[in-house]
Amino acid sequence: MKKYDVIIIGGGASGLACAVALTENPHLKILIIEAGERAGKKLSATGNGQGNICNKDMSVCHYRSGRIGLAEKIIFRVSAERTQERLFGKMIYFTDGAGRVYPHSMQASSLTDILLRRLKNAGVDILLSTRVKNISVSDGFVVDCGENSFLAEYVVLATGGKAQKQFLTDGSAYKLAQNFGHKLTPLRPAIVQLKTDTKFIKGLKGIRVNSMAKAYVGGILKKETRADIIFTDYGVSGNAAFYLSSELTSGGIIAIDFLPQYGEDEICETLKTRLGSGTSYPDILCGIVHNQIARAIIARAGENSVEAIVSLLKNFTLEVTGTLGFDYAQVTQGGIDMNDIADNLESKLCKNLYFAGEILDVDGDCGGYNLHWAFSSGTAVADDIILKTKNK
Ligand SMILES: Cc1cc2nc3c(=O)[nH]c(=O)nc-3n(C[C@H](O)[C@H](O)[C@H](O)COP(=O)(O)OP(=O)(O)OC[C@H]3O[C@@H](n4cnc5c(N)ncnc54)[C@H](O)[C@@H]3O)c2cc1C
Repeated sequence: MKKYDVIIIGGGASGLACAVALTENPHLKILIIEAGERAGKKLSATGNGQGNICNKDMSVCHYRSGRIGLAEKIIFRVSAERTQERLFGKMIYFTDGAGRVYPHSMQASSLTDILLRRLKNAGVDILLSTRVKNISVSDGFVVDCGENSFLAEYVVLATGGKAQKQFLTDGSAYKLAQNFGHKLTPLRPAIVQLKTDTKFIKGLKGIRVNSMAKAYVGGILKKETRADIIFTDYGVSGNAAFYLSSELTSGGIIAIDFLPQYGEDEICETLKTRLGSGTSYPDILCGIVHNQIARAIIARAGENSVEAIVSLLKNFTLEVTGTLGFDYAQVTQGGIDMNDIADNLESKLCKNLYFAGEILDVDGDCGGYNLHWAFSSGTAVADDIILKTKNK
């Protein structure tokens, strides 16, 4: 059986980041085992193929975890800029109006290319199209891939979550950790399209509006964002829906303000002036919102009342009945319970077993937060292993 110092299971964003950082100790023999025929396939698809790697606003309120204190330590251990420089070298980035940071190439695949080139130059072995079936301990780790088995002193589980199984992240790899006694917190799809009551949005399919959208759960405002909402035949999509979805995975209310820059009084006055100058009810919203939205609002108001119409323009609520599920989600909420994970991301239940990325119970908002978690956790694991192996 071939022996390595470190075996990283999963060649996604966190696994590749971990491997690149580990190459700083040139004496380490490193193997990445990846189930897919290519490493970094999901990374190359991120941000609509543009690779939104982090955000100008990196505050911790953009993350959720059963142990947010540990997630925070890892996320802010090193600045996002330094982590990126460590992984991608000197680069030029583009930041959009919403603070989302991309490689200037606007090509997520260029990030994968840089990481893979660095690993190739450093002589890191990458075994593709190979799924790890089991890990056991006997004088080190035995990593069982069916036909082949490998030995390692350190193992990093970087197998991702359960979102979008076409990237071979179907949740089956959690059992590799569960076999060591690790627990799984409840899993939910996040950054995902929302199913809603469709009674009031029939006929709006395909219409995109830039709005202020808010998520309420149990009547409490959980989150708000100014972004695009796209109406669909099942509910809502678009960046606003993605952003709010993390709070609405178990239901709630999404409230849309179609005219966020105007107060109710100002809109009321405008509509009353229109009525006074002879504009009839169905037409008083013409030119103010999309005609189909105008029709939906007037139908929902149910009476010829300017106040009722203004109220719907500012607070068009839809009951969230579910999401499109893991097959459409960009990230998994929940994962391996952080209470059994030490501050260096090593298992408290098995020495020298580490975790990085989405497999853990940490998820971030839409906007570059999940890739940053993958990169920061992957490099944090590498730093700990480098420390332990510095005499090698
Ligand atoms: C379409 C899409 C767009 C996204 N866009 C963004 C974005 O713009 N910005 C952002 O911050 N986040 C984005 N995300 C989320 C982000 O991509 C993930 O959170 C991140 O890739 C997680 O990294 P990871 O290394 O933990 O897991 P992954 O990148 O999912 O990698 C896990 C790897 O493990 C492999 N694997 C699984 N089981 C085994 C096994 N048993 N043996 C061997 N290998 C195995 C898988 O094949 C996979 O390659 C997006 C996600 C999707 C799906």
